[in-house]
Amino acid sequence: NNLSEGSQMELYWDALQKSWIWEELHRARNYRPAFEYGLFPGLAFSALERYLLRGKLPLTLKHGKPDHKSTDIASTHAPIKYPKPDGQVSFDVPTSLYRSNTNHEHDQPVHLKLRDPRIPELVNLPKFAGPEARYCPARVYEYVSDEKLGLKLQINAQNCLHCKACDIKDPTQNIEWTVPEGGGGPGYTIM
Ligand code: SF4
Repeated sequence: NNLSEGSQMELYWDALQKSWIWEELHRARNYRPAFEYGLFPGLAFSALERYLLRGKLPLTLKHGKPDHKSTDIASTHAPIKYPKPDGQVSFDVPTSLYRSNTNHEHDQPVHLKLRDPRIPELVNLPKFAGPEARYCPARVYEYVSDEKLGLKLQINAQNCLHCKACDIKDPTQNIEWTVPEGGGGPGYTIM
């Protein structure tokens, strides 16, 4: 029941805070935000943290802005040409997806929702070159041809790997990742 599930989650949180994971995360908390002050200050501060302070600095640096505010307008950048996957250490999306064994019951309610269904074609595509079709590791978001709109966002929710990148990274925070039915999602067999 809900009560016992809630209690179990509290136990998990408590156990996490007492574990080595928490201690390591605490020690490393200032590395990334230090680079908000530039590459060299970031490197110098990280070296200080690593070799002298060892996470004991009595303050926690803040990240400059949330991830979803960090996406620039696409027209201010040149497109990046990525090398083709070599099939040895890098793989194409269909192969990686196949290996993830991800699966959702076909008749379960869609767990990825758009707060405003017009935003992808009105904002994300023209302004940001459709970032959801780029950062999603499972190609859940695809811009496909549409007679009326030219290109229209299609959401292949059954491929989702539950990484939650879309919920965090969408520039207008228009994507809502809701909890899917239990038992669905990736099923890596060699981890
Ligand atoms: S949670 Fe991750 S895998 Fe799922 S749709 Fe969002 S970005 Fe793609």
